[in-house]
Amino acid sequence: MTDCIFCKIAAGEIPTEKIFEDDNVVAFPDINPVAPVHVIIIPKRHFATTLDMSDEAPELFGSLMKAASDTARKKGIDGSGFRLIFNTNADGGQEIFHVHMHLLGGEPIGRMRER
Ligand code: AMP
Ligand code: ZN
Repeated sequence: MTDCIFCKIAAGEIPTEKIFEDDNVVAFPDINPVAPVHVIIIPKRHFATTLDMSDEAPELFGSLMKAASDTARKKGIDGSGFRLIFNTNADGGQEIFHVHMHLLGGEPIGRMRER
């Protein structure tokens, strides 16, 4: 999709460190990390939200999980642990409308609090 920053990263038009890549998925460092390890994992195909990808290509969630596991092992945080997050639409805090998974680790990630 034109003017989608993550499509440009997937196409190699914006250079980044590719931590993982296969036919369907790319993983690269978050530009504003919130943890010592903060990796963004995207499908190469453009879907605005998890809702769209669930409808059109749900199997790609498996590809994202495989990339997350591979990345966690590569970064040496498979044993210490990590958190995977998808933000969807406004209340989910989604800012970039190309489906992406956040992989966070390298230190204890804060517990989710009761409201
Ligand atoms: P979200 O709020 O889930 O849409 O998160 C978007 C994430 O993308 C944020 O954590 C940003 O720091 C990250 N981000 C934005 N632009 C880039 C970029 N060019 N390269 C890597 N990460 C980016
Ligand atoms: Zn896109």
